[in-house]
Amino acid sequence: MSQASSSDIVIVGGGVIGLSIAWELAKRGHQVRVLERGEHVGREASWAGAGILPPANPDTALDPCEKLRGISHQLHAAWAEQLKQESGIDTGFRRCGGIYLARKPGEAASLAGYMHLLRQEEIEAQELSGNDLLQLEPALAPDSFSAAYLVPDELTLRNPRHIKALASSCELRGVHVDTNCEVFDFENHNGIITGLKTSRGLIAGKQFCVTGGAWSSRLLKQITDIPIGLVPIRGQIALFEAPVNLISHILNEGSRYLVPRDDGKVLAGSCEEEVGFEKGTTPEMLEQLADFAYSLVPALKECEITLTWSGLRPGSFDGVPYMGKIPHVENLFMASGHFRSGIHLSTGTALFMADLLESKKTFVDPDHFSILR
Ligand SMILES: Cc1cc2nc3c(=O)[nH]c(=O)nc-3n(C[C@H](O)[C@H](O)[C@H](O)COP(=O)(O)OP(=O)(O)OC[C@H]3O[C@@H](n4cnc5c(N)ncnc54)[C@H](O)[C@@H]3O)c2cc1C
Repeated sequence: MSQASSSDIVIVGGGVIGLSIAWELAKRGHQVRVLERGEHVGREASWAGAGILPPANPDTALDPCEKLRGISHQLHAAWAEQLKQESGIDTGFRRCGGIYLARKPGEAASLAGYMHLLRQEEIEAQELSGNDLLQLEPALAPDSFSAAYLVPDELTLRNPRHIKALASSCELRGVHVDTNCEVFDFENHNGIITGLKTSRGLIAGKQFCVTGGAWSSRLLKQITDIPIGLVPIRGQIALFEAPVNLISHILNEGSRYLVPRDDGKVLAGSCEEEVGFEKGTTPEMLEQLADFAYSLVPALKECEITLTWSGLRPGSFDGVPYMGKIPHVENLFMASGHFRSGIHLSTGTALFMADLLESKKTFVDPDHFSILR
């Protein structure tokens, strides 16, 4: 039996989603406990992500998912500030802006459609001439793009720093974090969970929330027959050591991107691979990412790739996260399936889940995110 006393709320999984919910609940005065099976928190998808926060506007959002994105987007600046004040860690949150590029006519047409949508949502998107483009990003391959747009409200943060800041702020607010603690099953008394069966014994609590990323449905199978369509989708990244300011905006082309860091590092990502729970990089994909990077910024050919990694994104069948109560169980909730946007959506998810756990009205209709949808 674990030594710590029964917490108000026990969260299973210390990724960005679990830690963000824990921090929000702790700020609201709850006694929170996070159980993470890894040696450290946040070392799965949340560590691997690129930290791109694309623009979104809650006031003009057309559906609940966009509303979640818009509210999340707005919250990031305040979160970065508060995390810095509490933990002393600069999360690398920056309004660097994004540039969207297209080469072929089909790509240019779909980009024009996306930019039209952004403008409809009152999000700034400026079309760039070839000269504008080279002035903003002189290292871009000249005469390679048929269309280019600047989206100033694209933001970025550095995932590892954001996670460290969240973990430290959680601790300062009294969140009890157990690492090396894997949850295997639930102790269920007539539809009420009284505890979790873990590698460190039985852990009691009043309410429970599963935030195990791509692994959530494996655990929830122990308690519900309702299929939860979560699939691990692997993404790979290559990190270049480049001169400072070689590029200064996030450069997007299709589903691939280059992300600049203040210290000159440039991330090249990514891909979507269905390979089960197998992490790891492959020479073929890293070659594709390097070729993509060179085709955008030829000077990267002179820069060393110093690190490569992969992560398993929690993909839901429709791209919408599962957030809500588990049917037929009184006090069990989940929040997983944020796919390519978990860092971005983590702030709004924390608010939404904290409201739900407190039985308050949520800012979007919870049915949209229900596991029964
Ligand atoms: C290459 C790549 C690039 C990405 N780029 C971006 C981006 O630019 N912007 C963006 O917003 N998102 C991005 N993402 C997506 C984002 O990283 C994820 O959506 C997000 O990290 C999911 O967070 P999570 O907390 O749900 O899952 P995870 O980070 O996977 O955390 C789940 C945690 O639960 C723990 N756990 C699981 N089961 C158990 C158990 N039974 N007991 C105890 N602990 C358990 C795991 O060990 C893990 O630490 C990217 C992802 C990848 C892989």
